[in-house]
Amino acid sequence: MFRTHNCGELRITDAGQEVTISGWIQTIRKFGGITFIDLRDRYGITQLLIDEKLSEDPAIGGLGREYVIQAKGTVQERSNKNPQIATGDIEIAANKVNILNSSLVPPFTIQDETDGGDDIRMKYRFLDLRRNAVKKNLLLRHEVSSATRRYLNGQHFVEVETPFLIKSTPEGARDFVVPSRMNQGEFYALPQSPQTFKQLLMVSGFDRYYQIVKCFRDEDLRADRQPEFTQIDCEMSFVEQEDILQMFEGLIKNIFKEVKNINIPGQVPRITWEDAMWNYGNDKPDTRFEIKLANLKVKGKCFLESIKENEFPVFQNAETILSIAIPDAASYTRKQTDELIDWVKRPQIGMGGLAFIKYNSDNTLKSSFDKFFNEAQLKTIAEKTNAQPGDLILILAGKEERTRKAISDLRLFMAGRLGLRNPEEFKLLWVTDFPLFEYDEENNRWVARHHPFTSPKPEDIETMIQNDPAIKDAEKYLEHPYADIKANAYDMVLNGNEIGGGSIRIYQRELQEKMFAALGINKEEAQQKFGFLLGAFEYGAPPHGGIAFGFDRLCAILGGSESIRDFIAFPKNNSGRDVMINAPSVIDEQQLKELNLTIKEK
Ligand code: ASP
Repeated sequence: MFRTHNCGELRITDAGQEVTISGWIQTIRKFGGITFIDLRDRYGITQLLIDEKLSEDPAIGGLGREYVIQAKGTVQERSNKNPQIATGDIEIAANKVNILNSSLVPPFTIQDETDGGDDIRMKYRFLDLRRNAVKKNLLLRHEVSSATRRYLNGQHFVEVETPFLIKSTPEGARDFVVPSRMNQGEFYALPQSPQTFKQLLMVSGFDRYYQIVKCFRDEDLRADRQPEFTQIDCEMSFVEQEDILQMFEGLIKNIFKEVKNINIPGQVPRITWEDAMWNYGNDKPDTRFEIKLANLKVKGKCFLESIKENEFPVFQNAETILSIAIPDAASYTRKQTDELIDWVKRPQIGMGGLAFIKYNSDNTLKSSFDKFFNEAQLKTIAEKTNAQPGDLILILAGKEERTRKAISDLRLFMAGRLGLRNPEEFKLLWVTDFPLFEYDEENNRWVARHHPFTSPKPEDIETMIQNDPAIKDAEKYLEHPYADIKANAYDMVLNGNEIGGGSIRIYQRELQEKMFAALGINKEEAQQKFGFLLGAFEYGAPPHGGIAFGFDRLCAILGGSESIRDFIAFPKNNSGRDVMINAPSVIDEQQLKELNLTIKEK
C-alpha cells in the first residue's frame, strides 16, 4: 500500500498512529543531524522528521526537491507548531523512507509565489499545476461543473454530446478546419458552438439539453481569449424568453450558493441593450458601482440648452458629448487631471482630449473650459451628470461610437482607481432586446449580431416577412446604428463581463430563409450550408430557445481572477501555441500524402 493517509489529513488526534504517506518533497532542511521534510500532495503538506540515524543513510542525503517518496512512521505532536497549515500540530517521526522516483531540479519554485515567468511556467505546465495557486483554480472549476450538472440534471436536462468534426457553424469567427483523408479535398470544421445540433435535438424532442463542451474559434487572440474554450451549452423547447431567464438565473444563483456560499437574493436586474448603451456606453456594464453617464449631446442632438447655445468649438463640432461624475475627485491636482487627459489620448482610447469640471465641496465650479462657460452653465452640466459637491466631472466629445466606448472605458478605469471593482462583490445583470443585425463596416454588409438562428422580436417578425430581403435598405439602418429590428436575444453580465448569451430561435423554414436572405446568403448557399436545418424545420420543429455560458470566464470570475488562462489546465499562449507540447507543428510527408495535401513554400 502506497499510503494509509494523504498529506493533508493527519491531526493531533491521530498522534500515536502508525501511518504511511506518499508525496513530493516540497522542502528539505537539516538541523544538526536531524532532517525535516515537508511532503506535499494534492491535499496538503505534512512534516516528516527523520532522526539522526536514518538521516545518515546516503539515500536520505541524496534527496532533493520534488522527489517522490513514501514514508512510514508514527504521528507525533510537533514541538514547533505551524498554525498556517491544517496539519501544523503534528509531524511523522519516520522510520522508513522509500524513494519512489527522483526529480531534476524544477525550473521554478513550486510555491504560491513562484520565481517562474509565464513562458517557463507554461512550458512546464505539469509542474505549474502542482502549485497551490493554480491547483485550487482547477479544483474550483471542478466544483462549478459539478454544481452545474447537479442543477441542470435536477431540472430534467439531458446531457448529450454533439460531434466535433462538423460543417461550419456561423458564430462570427473563423473556423478551424480538419482535412479529411477518406474524402480527399474536403474538410471538416470544428464547431464554434454546438448551435445547430442543439436545435436539431429540440426537433428530435429532447426538450431540455445541455453539454459542458469545447468550442473552437480561430480568432486573433485578443487579451484573454483562447482558441478552444468551454461552454455550458443549453437549449429548451416550448419556452419564451422569460422561461429561459428564470431557468438560467436559477443556474447561476445555484452555482454561487454551492461554490461560494453566496446567496443572490431577488430577481437578477434587467436592462435593455439600448438603455445599457445610453447609460453606460457599453452592452455589458459593470453595475458594482452606480456611476452612469450623462448624454449631453448625441449624434448632433443637444440635450442641454447650455451646450446648444455655447460657442465652445470642441463642443460645437462634436457629434456626441458624454460626461460622468467621479465621486470625491474634485480635489484632483493639475498633475492628476493631466494624467487623465493623457490616458484618454492613448491609441487604445483614441480621444483628442478630455474636458473636466471640478464641482468643489464649497459648491463653486471650475472647469477646463472656463473661457466659454460661466458658473451657472457649468452647474447645468453638473446637474445633468448627477454630480454632487466634491465630484470631478469628466467630459468627452467626439464621434458617437468612439466617444461612447471611450467614456465607458474611462468609467471602468476610474472605478478601478477608486477601488469600486471589488472582485469579491458580484453583480449580475440581464441585457435584453439586442439589435438583430449589425453592420460589418469592414465587409460592407449586415451580419447577425448574435447568430442567424436568432428570432426577431415577435412585433418585428412582420417587417422581416414582408421585406425581401428584409434589410435591403442598408442606408436606412446606417442612420440608426442602434438598429430598429430587435432580437429575442439576451446576455447575462457579471461584473462587467458577458458570461452568457442566447436567444429564442427561429423555428419556421420561411422565416429562417428570410433571415439568410437578409444576411445576403442566397437560396442555394443557404440550402448548401444549412439545408439540414431548414429541412428539419419542416418536420415539426417546436418553438425553442437557449443560452450558452462561457465556462472558463465564469470560473475565473468566481475565482477572483481576470485571466481565464489560470483556470484552464493546459491553455494556449497569445499566438495560439501550446508551448508545452509545441503545437501547432508540421506534419510529416506521409501524413500529407495520405491527405493529398502539399505545403506551398512560404
Ligand atoms: N451558440 C451561441 C454562442 O455560442 C449561444 C446560444 O445562442 O445558445 O454564443
